[in-house]
Amino acid sequence: MPETAAAPASKKFSLQQYKTEVHVDWCPGCGDFGILSSIQQALFQLQLPPYKVAMISGIGCSGKTPHYIDTYGLHTLHGRALPVATGAKLANNQLTVVAVGGDGDGYGIGAGYFLNSGRRNIDMTYIVFNNGVYGLTKGQASPTLAKGLKTKSMPDPSIQEGINPIAVALGAGYTWIGRGYALDVKSLVSLIVQAINHKGTSFLDVFQTCPVYNDLRTKEWYAGEDIGRTRIRRLDADPAWNPVVADASSIEEIVEKKTRALHASYESGDNLAVGVFYSIDLPTYDDQLATKVPALKEHPLVDLPLYQRDVQPLFDELA
Ligand code: SF4
Repeated sequence: MPETAAAPASKKFSLQQYKTEVHVDWCPGCGDFGILSSIQQALFQLQLPPYKVAMISGIGCSGKTPHYIDTYGLHTLHGRALPVATGAKLANNQLTVVAVGGDGDGYGIGAGYFLNSGRRNIDMTYIVFNNGVYGLTKGQASPTLAKGLKTKSMPDPSIQEGINPIAVALGAGYTWIGRGYALDVKSLVSLIVQAINHKGTSFLDVFQTCPVYNDLRTKEWYAGEDIGRTRIRRLDADPAWNPVVADASSIEEIVEKKTRALHASYESGDNLAVGVFYSIDLPTYDDQLATKVPALKEHPLVDLPLYQRDVQPLFDELA
């Protein structure tokens, strides 16, 4: 995997400073390695102080990600990465908060949180390692496995439709929506940098290979070895593709951009769109909260003495 071995002299933090000594125990060839490396490289590119970043994960193979990144980190409960990330950001609005999890964790057990995090627009990033199976528990079908597919650990093909995470995110109100591919690290680093830089909740679905349990969506399948061309279609290769809403007050433009994104998200089979699907600047939950609690503009909640948190009247009322 291509990596920059050391920071240029002008960089304060080296790439190594975003890595821990913990042994990475994912299976050999797992796509998670590409995503981990991409997150570390993105943090390095952005030169985010490691002590100002919080990585929050759910349960699953991807849940181990915070163990391997030398920032603050929390490995939470199944499906609960987003509510914990929400709490972390509201408690300390000076942190860069990145939630990570798998497709089963985020679109199955955590589906309610996935929906409601979109409409809140808290300034944080959510990265989903999407491999179509519950890898940690030996390969059961996850919510993204398409109908009719049968991985090697399933007795029969799935009789349920798979969900479309990009379409769900568009409906839920995420203000930045993208998709990457775990084995295209260079593009994935760029997408993660854009996602973190976006002010608001950014959602990045990542096609991830699980060579142990998903024997259908392999790196050879994504590379299109059977059809003679890659199945990955980069949206930014189309000069006419523009996912950014220029006028956030224009319902017509929002509908037009969402409709185009929706069309691109339903490409399947031999064309899998990756890149930025949708982006809009809207007021964040954090900023709106700060208009009600002005002290939050100067200090994060954790640094405010209790009397400045405007909760004393509430305590008085309850006394
Ligand atoms: Fe990766 Fe699959 Fe192994 Fe989990 S089970 S570490 S997703 S290859």
